[in-house]
Amino acid sequence: MPQCPFCKNQITWLRFHYNEESYSDFSISKDKMPLIQSHHTLDGIIKDSEKFKCPYCNKILFKSRKIAEMFLKLPYNTQYLNLKELIQIIKNKMVVDNL
Ligand SMILES: [Zn+2]
Repeated sequence: MPQCPFCKNQITWLRFHYNEESYSDFSISKDKMPLIQSHHTLDGIIKDSEKFKCPYCNKILFKSRKIAEMFLKLPYNTQYLNLKELIQIIKNKMVVDNL
């Protein structure tokens, strides 16, 4: 099971943050006040807005869904690796898996 490179807790899930494109109707009410109504969410996550954080210390670990996925699948202990080493190992593994 992989560990967070910062707080060293074992991680089985990550906190996934992202921005979604949405819009509302903007108008002026009868009493002349700006009014924002009916919130709509467009499908799709805004490009490059994805962040995967450690659920324990809330530090940003990854900004790529593929790397986050590979991290969660790591079968071994990663407690002695810093974030840079960890990402390098995952990227190397991605290359090997694609050969
Ligand atoms: Zn952590």
